[in-house]
Amino acid sequence: MKNIQFVDLKRQYDAYKDYIDLQIKEVIESTSFIMGPKIKELEDILGSYVGVKHAISCSSGTDALLLALMAYAIAPGDEIITTPFTFIATAEVISLLGAKPVFVDIDETSFNINPHLIKNAITDKTKGIIAVDLFGQPADYHEINKVAEENKLFVIEDAAQSFGATYHGKRACSLSEITCTSFFPAKPFGCYGDGGMVFTNNDQLADLCESIRVHGKGNHKYDNIRIGINARMDTIQAAVLLGKFPHFNMEIDKRNLIADIYQNELGSHVLKPKILDHNVSAWAQYCIRSQRRDELQAFLNKKGIPTAIYYPKPLHLQEAFSDLGYKAGDFPVCENIARDILALPMHPFLTNHEIDTIVESVNQFT
Ligand SMILES: *Cc1c(COP(=O)(O)O)cnc(C)c1O
Repeated sequence: MKNIQFVDLKRQYDAYKDYIDLQIKEVIESTSFIMGPKIKELEDILGSYVGVKHAISCSSGTDALLLALMAYAIAPGDEIITTPFTFIATAEVISLLGAKPVFVDIDETSFNINPHLIKNAITDKTKGIIAVDLFGQPADYHEINKVAEENKLFVIEDAAQSFGATYHGKRACSLSEITCTSFFPAKPFGCYGDGGMVFTNNDQLADLCESIRVHGKGNHKYDNIRIGINARMDTIQAAVLLGKFPHFNMEIDKRNLIADIYQNELGSHVLKPKILDHNVSAWAQYCIRSQRRDELQAFLNKKGIPTAIYYPKPLHLQEAFSDLGYKAGDFPVCENIARDILALPMHPFLTNHEIDTIVESVNQFT
């Protein structure tokens, strides 16, 4: 029998092969490799899926965040509040523009930024907040948008892990003024390389992102009205996403079914994740917690069950951010979770037998 995969992209490709291959072939035969018609088609489909007026495809989730910050003209001296418990890209783009990431500890239950701690981190240099929907569960946007509005800050939703999730019935990628997602292969909605998207209902921000995405273009490519970057999405990646999209809702349902089984059947010797009542998670990751995390990981590894640690080192303790002057102990909730968290295999192609094997193995660890 084939080994259990942490994320099984091969089974997914085998299941959708015909349509994905057809979509890719159409791009190759049309030779519209850069900004071909499938780019617009994908933007229209995903914009209406998340319920947002403008969808701007781009080269990665990281570049989506960069485009959003550049659209707000973030520059040296500015401060942006964000979570220390996320992938490096969320905060990296802030530093890349010469601005300063200001971290705020997370909520113990959702693992997302604690909105009640944001106020204390605001200074006269603060321009905005980047909230992250970690592991697929949306952050608390009612509270985050409220504190932002009171202090005239913008909010960027980093929905790299939450495409397909909902918050009070609204789709992730529609929960703040401008939102960003990633189509990295292992994300809930992944392509076959790098890809990302920015969503906004704001016409002016959309225009800025579209311009910055193609070297600050004005009316045409060789009319350059601002400094931009090359952040276009590859048309072949758009084709892959178009090939997968018809199955996407089924995949989100399947992830939720698997998560339900984990929730019901894993023993209480591990701490299980909690999805707040108003949220539906996209289950990018299913993460348990255990005081003996490293032992548990080794135990599961011996049984052929792949696991991963997101994230072993919070961002405020990363060497790349050492000049920010943070130290161990600054964000105790986040630091504790980083010590005991463990992600189990999660993808829509896990078989019942595999799910049973994973549950039994975790439950054998005593
Ligand atoms: C993956 C990820 C990104 C970056 O996306 P890429 O497409 O890999 O550039 C940003 N933020 C979070 C929270 C992510 O998980």
